[in-house]
Amino acid sequence: MGPVAAERYRQAREEVEQRIGLAAARSGREAAAVTLLAVSKTVAVPTLRSAIEAGLVLFGENRVQEAAQKAPHLPGAHWHLVGRLQANKAARALGLFEVIQSIDSVALAQRLDRLMSGGDGAGVRPDGAVDIYLQANVDDDASKAGFSTRDLREAIAELADLPHLRILGLMTVGRQVSNPEEARSTFRRLRELSERLRARVPALGRGLSMGMSDDFEVAVEEGATIVRVGRALFGERPLP
Ligand SMILES: *Cc1c(COP(=O)(O)O)cnc(C)c1O
Repeated sequence: MGPVAAERYRQAREEVEQRIGLAAARSGREAAAVTLLAVSKTVAVPTLRSAIEAGLVLFGENRVQEAAQKAPHLPGAHWHLVGRLQANKAARALGLFEVIQSIDSVALAQRLDRLMSGGDGAGVRPDGAVDIYLQANVDDDASKAGFSTRDLREAIAELADLPHLRILGLMTVGRQVSNPEEARSTFRRLRELSERLRARVPALGRGLSMGMSDDFEVAVEEGATIVRVGRALFGERPLP
């Protein structure tokens, strides 16, 4: 690794940031209103060291176990969980991740709230609340995790009342599309859902976590506040 690799990731980061900036400008938004989350699943620690040298500090992982292995070797990195959280790993996740983006059930939200009230993870959070996103499956895609629009409508007030959770906003994983334009309706639906829910429950934050390597520009045009980008920064992942 070393300086050559760091230079490569610096270029990749600058290119993605530039594309975010142009997409933001097209929709009359500030580039600074969009956060870049570098999705680092399957990316090894030495590579991530170079990425940190290149100015990437915010990483997304989809497995608690993988993040637990990497995080101790990467001081200075900040972590978001973007993959499904199993109930039995919730306490561990609270100790690792600053933000849990993948809350997809009331039971999981309640569990995190209970753990926080017992002090798990509270040490790293001075105000005793954990930042989360609610994952919404706005396409009602059977293969995707997340609340259906209808379930979220029913649960939002109860979720917002959990005292140890701060709901930063909504997150969605779009369908796999061959043309980024095909993802636009999903992103628009997430934004509209967020607005409708917030009219009723103002405690729901304005965050919109949407857009990945193939469609983050469309997501930014539709209002994304945080995009989750893996391959466009780190290259193709090995096949599972
Ligand atoms: C892997 C993953 C990403 C990043 O996908 P890329 O296509 O590599 O940008 C984003 N969000 C989630 C939930 C993921 O699992």
